[in-house]
Amino acid sequence: MLQQTTVPAVKSYFERFTALWPTVNDLAAAPEDLILKEWAGLGYYARARNLYKCACAVTKEYGGIFPDTEDELIQLPGIGPYSAAAITSIAYNKQATVVDGNVERIVSRLAALEEPLPQSKKTIKELAVHLYQDIGPRASDMPQALMDLGSMICTPKSPTCGLCPISQYCKARKSGDQEKYPVKSKKAPKPTRIGEVYWLETSSGEILVEKRLNDRMLGGMMALPGSNWDNNASQEEEALSSITHVKNWEECGKIKHVFTHFTLILTVRKAGISKKNLILNKNQHLVSIKDIGDLGFPSLYKKVSNMILTFDSSGNRNE
Ligand code: SF4
Repeated sequence: MLQQTTVPAVKSYFERFTALWPTVNDLAAAPEDLILKEWAGLGYYARARNLYKCACAVTKEYGGIFPDTEDELIQLPGIGPYSAAAITSIAYNKQATVVDGNVERIVSRLAALEEPLPQSKKTIKELAVHLYQDIGPRASDMPQALMDLGSMICTPKSPTCGLCPISQYCKARKSGDQEKYPVKSKKAPKPTRIGEVYWLETSSGEILVEKRLNDRMLGGMMALPGSNWDNNASQEEEALSSITHVKNWEECGKIKHVFTHFTLILTVRKAGISKKNLILNKNQHLVSIKDIGDLGFPSLYKKVSNMILTFDSSGNRNE
């Protein structure tokens, strides 16, 4: 849950997940749809799908107990080099080289590393090995100590070097340009994608919703139909086939949503539909407007439904 997300944002989700599914076996036995619904609002939904796949693999292959070696852990869905090392060290108290953003910053400063991130990741990992060598019986304390050092003392801006227990080894401190490190490659500007999203409403107060297919962005999540904005043209055609007969579109405004790799701007359109003419795709169904809150829409579609529900028939938004 904490990948790309802060502790305050995750806390209530973590508590709810562990109350609903106290063991890995419980999580593996849960319906994936329910897990995705409980995840709604946390973003990066691939993590939720991987969490479920990982629980299934741990239950099936390891009897519900996580393996205790990096080599085995890294084979599990959703577990990369960082998580594999962190679990080995923190959960099993075994020596492993755990490198998160904090450790990257500390190592870059200790060595005054001129090679920029992300290219320098390999070098940083090689240098970090020395921090984790021969640390004795409390192997699990070391990554946590370094993370605390990075988050509280060796901070990105204005590090408190006077309190740093390893300042005597730090090349960046010696040269007085700590904030220069880690050197970062210039980021390419985030591209913008545009698209459309549709609110299709029957006279009896139902809207057309669909479950996004697994190979699309936000795969497996409930959504509103729309144009292709994630570069999967075949799915676009399928999504649009059920609305070719729809006329009398009203434009309600635009929604901006920022993903990790691009900014999305969707034009929101609404129209009335008749149940008689409606041809539903297999991943689509009608749902009563009053039940929208129970669908577990991800934030993008929550923004759209909030916009529509504050939009009156004269074309103005109700504030
Ligand atoms: S001396 Fe300063 S820059 Fe160097 S590791 Fe410690 S806090 Fe970071």
